[in-house]
Amino acid sequence: MDKNLLFRSIPKVDILLETKEIKELIREYGHEIVLDIIREETDKLRHLISNSENEEELEEKINNLTSTIVGTVKNLFKPKVKKVINGTGTILHTNLGRAPISQNIANKLSEIVCGYSNIEFNLKTGKRGERYSHFAELLCRITGAEAAMVVNNNAAAVMLILDTMAKGGEVIVSRGELVEIGGKFRIPDVMKRSGATLVDIGTTNKTHFSDYEEAITENTKAFLKVHTSNYNIVGFTESVPASELRPLSEKHSIPIIEDLGSGVLIDLAKYGLTHEPTVQEAIESGVDVVSFSGDKLLGGPQAGIIIGKKKYIDMMKKNQLTRALRVDKFTVTALELTLLAYLSEEKAMTEIPVLKMISEPYDSLRNRANELADILKSKTEKAEITVKECESQVGGGSLPLERIKSAAVVIKSENITKLEKIMHNFEPAIVARTVEDAIWLDVRTLASEDFETIGNLFGGVL
Ligand SMILES: *Cc1c(COP(=O)(O)O)cnc(C)c1O
Repeated sequence: MDKNLLFRSIPKVDILLETKEIKELIREYGHEIVLDIIREETDKLRHLISNSENEEELEEKINNLTSTIVGTVKNLFKPKVKKVINGTGTILHTNLGRAPISQNIANKLSEIVCGYSNIEFNLKTGKRGERYSHFAELLCRITGAEAAMVVNNNAAAVMLILDTMAKGGEVIVSRGELVEIGGKFRIPDVMKRSGATLVDIGTTNKTHFSDYEEAITENTKAFLKVHTSNYNIVGFTESVPASELRPLSEKHSIPIIEDLGSGVLIDLAKYGLTHEPTVQEAIESGVDVVSFSGDKLLGGPQAGIIIGKKKYIDMMKKNQLTRALRVDKFTVTALELTLLAYLSEEKAMTEIPVLKMISEPYDSLRNRANELADILKSKTEKAEITVKECESQVGGGSLPLERIKSAAVVIKSENITKLEKIMHNFEPAIVARTVEDAIWLDVRTLASEDFETIGNLFGGVL
């Protein structure tokens, strides 16, 4: 193989710049970036010629150089974060962005974020306002708390609470509540970071009132309760609810902090789910400071909501860390709009996508699955398409044992791995569950508006 000849056959940059395809590319994307890509791709080609002995492949690559450049530039300009159709049936899928926001909220959100807003401006006084003021009252009304603030996520909330209330002191936690949430968020590690010393009491399965009582020293700054949101300890167990800790807390002036994780504002037992302790119950039972996520069962944007006694919330607002954990106008706006729906439970259940998905009855799911199956069958005759019963999960570290009866469209295919890859490359991408030789699309997490798109995407490949 004559490598010199191959090197010489790479088109020169000047020549490439004169081709119709590249000229068009420059018109659309700009001279500089196209030139950068031309250089990168020709460098790559030179490198390949030096290192490869596959003459046929090299010649092909040289011949395809222009189209490679066009493809690379076009790909570069495509946003990498893209819409995914969630067919997994897992409602709060952390890898897929957790809680979806309603179209209604998104429309109002764009109005606010595309221009200026009163995010930190008090229109009544004409002076600087407070970022949290927009939804603090609303949160207090809904939860019964005295005061409220918000940071970027619940992990940050726990960090800020401990840093503010327990730095340099001891925090008493039951061993059964030393949780690891996904992404290596571990309560003992967060505690270390915040400068508080963890005093773990009891055993994995049992913690008694006396364990709390005996662990108190003059350095005790708080009792911390952590909702074991992503696992259940069952069987021979005992834990001490916040309401029972209250007398001890009052006697020794030690505040109770509770990390609720999910933050449900509506008793989901009414909708057939296991009772999950609500935020209101935590406040009622006398917890001084409660934190929870905005994008788990609450169904709003990513946020860490902190509510409780005003004196503690005020201390947190003054903490320098708060500035580093500050939420932006996207969060403030989406959170206020989400919370507004909670003024009426009926409104919340129908307008907040997470709650709507959780409470969709089986009959409705079955009907929608049949509808999707019919669309798919009309697009392809080759694949075997059926409707089957399945089980959805709440996900996001919430209600770990809960399985909700649902309906799925099942697509049988010979080469399931290949089909999955193709689905991930669809625009929008489709992520589903695979069981043996079939793709399961749980309709609980699918919007009916996406059915036609799903049909067209599959119709093209099946
Ligand atoms: C999910 C969870 C967190 C972390 O919340 P993020 O909003 O994801 O940061 C912390 N504590 C508990 C108990 C949780 O369930």
